[in-house]
Amino acid sequence: FGFKGCQKIRGPQIRSLLEAKDFFLFDCDGVIWHGEKAITGAAKVVNALIRQGKNVVFVTNNCTRPRENYVHKFCRLGFTDVMLEQIFSSSYCSALYLRDVVKVRGQVFVIGCDGLRRELLEAGIPCVEEADDPDATIYNCALAPDVKAVLVGHDDKLTFLKLAKASCYLRDPDCLFLATDNDPWHPLSGGRILPGSGSLTAALEVASGRKATVIGKPSRFMFECISSQFRGVDPAQCLMVGDRLEVDMLFGSNCGLDTMLTLTGVSQIEEAQEYRNSDLSTNHSLVPDYVVDTIADFLPAFEE
Ligand code: PLP
Ligand code: CA
Repeated sequence: FGFKGCQKIRGPQIRSLLEAKDFFLFDCDGVIWHGEKAITGAAKVVNALIRQGKNVVFVTNNCTRPRENYVHKFCRLGFTDVMLEQIFSSSYCSALYLRDVVKVRGQVFVIGCDGLRRELLEAGIPCVEEADDPDATIYNCALAPDVKAVLVGHDDKLTFLKLAKASCYLRDPDCLFLATDNDPWHPLSGGRILPGSGSLTAALEVASGRKATVIGKPSRFMFECISSQFRGVDPAQCLMVGDRLEVDMLFGSNCGLDTMLTLTGVSQIEEAQEYRNSDLSTNHSLVPDYVVDTIADFLPAFEE
């Protein structure tokens, strides 16, 4: 396309791009919704793509819910045609990684929300049960003898004890160190932010002197999960739509996909242009191929 290259595209350009691609990967927060509120027009866009027979999947680094919860959330917010098979979350992909790639034998110590643990249990992966003992400290607590992986994700009940236990398990070089995702923070309304999984992973990387294997975006593994479940996915036919340059655009580049930045989320077009103009060639992987203000800009392309 003549219009490829970190610039805003409109009407006929969007139409030809949508016609050319047959597989759409959407990031969720900042693209499809903000927390519990759908982006205006997003449901119409997603429903129209699905009805046109396009393949649509969702790739989210939010590890706090199992996939069924996303099906309900999509439905609640008006995305009526989204099915479980279309949802690829960092918790689901972490479960697949532990089960099918490393075939973990033994227990997994999880720093994360109940939703992450539920997704692992559904895949048959045993997790260390945490006793609710207010007097437990790292000096007197029991450590499980058969922990073969530490998995770190967003945890709204994080304690110092959990970090300390994870650090102890990671002393064993045979214990794997995985992170659902490496997102640094997430925007909340009113200018507040939520520290992301990446901030917890960083704490454990310092304590252990090790580097975590990241499962979610921008790692390629999520795309491998998609490719193994949808036959004949051709990267050249895919469009990755996201709101965060360092996560979503890099993910697309890592997987050989065309990328689109939508300006309803974290990153601004000026940051993309800075990466484009940077002398550091690794920064060029963060530059989107296309930019739109919102995915609602797709809507005219569905009109006759
Ligand atoms: N992780 C958590 C805990 C979040 O709250 C969010 C966004 O709200 C994300 C990850 C990022 O999700 P996504 O990849 O859909 O933007
Ligand atoms: Ca996002």
